[in-house]
Amino acid sequence: MADEKQTILVVEDEEDILALLHFNLVKVGYKVECATCGEEGLQKIDMARPDLLLLDLMLPGIDGLEICRRLRDDEATAGLPIIMLTAKGEEEDVVRGLELGADDYITKPFSNKVLLARIQAVFRRRSREKRQNGGEEIEVDQLRIHPGRNLVQVAGGNVDLTFTEFRVLVALVSRPGWVFTRYQIVNAVRGEDYAVTDRAVDVQIAGLRKKLGICGEYIETVRGVGYRFREDP
Ligand code: CA
Repeated sequence: MADEKQTILVVEDEEDILALLHFNLVKVGYKVECATCGEEGLQKIDMARPDLLLLDLMLPGIDGLEICRRLRDDEATAGLPIIMLTAKGEEEDVVRGLELGADDYITKPFSNKVLLARIQAVFRRRSREKRQNGGEEIEVDQLRIHPGRNLVQVAGGNVDLTFTEFRVLVALVSRPGWVFTRYQIVNAVRGEDYAVTDRAVDVQIAGLRKKLGICGEYIETVRGVGYRFREDP
């Protein structure tokens, strides 16, 4: 159940999917706005000020990726949570969407239960991020990270990470459940575009998993997209 009346805008050109999403989201207590093309979607974002956007990628006219780009470029909407609705085989678009700042994606066809879980996860993550802007110690199960001290412990024992491995870990852990593309991981580590290959990121991740031992499995591979730190280890 939704905790409070939050507004979700659904932008989807397939009317039956749109109707079903509307029905299911209203049922659990969300206020729902609908749009069937990109132009209408952008207008409704202006008017309805939604708390979250469910965004189909393949839309007539302004497509989902372009909407992502415009929303992130505009200060008023830069923080609007976006979950992309994608079809099978759109992995490249998923990667681009995540790099443009979408929070998550869900592949059609999906169950209502999975969709609601993703929506709640995005809301949870956003409110946790707001709270966690202090850079304090992070503790997840047996794993403890002290960002300021460059120190990582697993089950009480110190883990010897390289500086790069440490930065990769802090980036992933700072947003549990969030899928990072390899490019985003490189950026998180280097701060800007840096000539590191996908393969080099994979090598860093492999090293990290090994050194983290029993906590290594918290870092999950998201096939065709990148990596994420498991939300609930
Ligand atoms: Ca579509």
